[in-house]
Amino acid sequence: MASLMPKYSSLLNLLKIKDGAATLRSRFNSRLSLCGFLPAEVDLFRSSGGDCGSVEFCILLIYFLYWVLCLAFSHDIDFKVKYDLHSHSRCSDGILSPSELVSRASDKQVDVLALTDHDTTAGIAEARRAAADKNITVIAGVEFSCQWLGRGIHVVGLGLDLDNKDLQRAEKLQSAKREERCELIAAKLTKLGILGSLEGARALANGVSVGRPHFAQYLVDRGHVSSIKQAFKKYLGSGKAGDVKALWPELGEVIAWVNAAGGQAVIAHPDKYKLTRTKLRQLADCFAGEGGAAMELVSGRQAPGLAANLAVVAKEYGLLGSCGSDFHRPEQPWQELGNFEALPSGVEPVWRDWA
Ligand SMILES: [Zn+2]
Ligand SMILES: [Zn+2]
Repeated sequence: MASLMPKYSSLLNLLKIKDGAATLRSRFNSRLSLCGFLPAEVDLFRSSGGDCGSVEFCILLIYFLYWVLCLAFSHDIDFKVKYDLHSHSRCSDGILSPSELVSRASDKQVDVLALTDHDTTAGIAEARRAAADKNITVIAGVEFSCQWLGRGIHVVGLGLDLDNKDLQRAEKLQSAKREERCELIAAKLTKLGILGSLEGARALANGVSVGRPHFAQYLVDRGHVSSIKQAFKKYLGSGKAGDVKALWPELGEVIAWVNAAGGQAVIAHPDKYKLTRTKLRQLADCFAGEGGAAMELVSGRQAPGLAANLAVVAKEYGLLGSCGSDFHRPEQPWQELGNFEALPSGVEPVWRDWA
């Protein structure tokens, strides 16, 4: 489509020369004829008389409309709808309450927001109430922790039926595992001479499920490290004391939970697992085989070209494309609500069949 458009700068240059408007008019006319939009014998501008003083303006206006149409169709049909399908509230390790999150998303021009707290849908009801008087739709979501070939993997579930008994059982199970995991992390930290971390993390979680970020905050507060980042690097990240993943269910099990609740399972932020291309393809293959629906091609602000690269793998295994900020807190602008690139063109989006 883009090749049919005259370049805007050459268009302005044409207008500067003598009879430029007439030249432009005939070029535009022949372009439309060439694309089959106009029969060859019809002169689109004949009715303006050709010597109308505002013909340049008319041409620019038509050019502009044509350009807008080209832009709309070279993206996707949801040109105007902003989907953010991965976000966290205070119900897991986010900082905002579900209603504050919805207000912020609405301010950031997000039209459809999925609340996907870690292993819980506890915030959905509040988010939906907050969305009732705003121009925003809340999708019931979750982000389940699981393991695949011994690696920790996150699976986002979208469009869940919250009354589904399998889903409710799954949340209880994950909550128990999370508690067990926290005790293991605390025991490991105790061995390293850091005392009271379980109580400290619980106090910081303030009634919601305890996660590694709460341990991280505790480590910062007690002066063991200087920042959350340091806490993960030294104690909680991959391969460190706090990296306890053996308890999580297998990938296929969490996909089955999402499907049982009428939802779509999505591989969350595939780039974070640091997989080789071969391993990523293996994951996509296994995920699709177990009934997974989509892959997150865009996760917050990311390296140019990554989405297109992931899209090739997703397409190969029949997975749809999803996108989200993975928002946790306002101080992380690279994970701001709605602030990420569009899905690569030609990708079938996860919302393709949403009503
Ligand atoms: Zn995640
Ligand atoms: Zn997340």
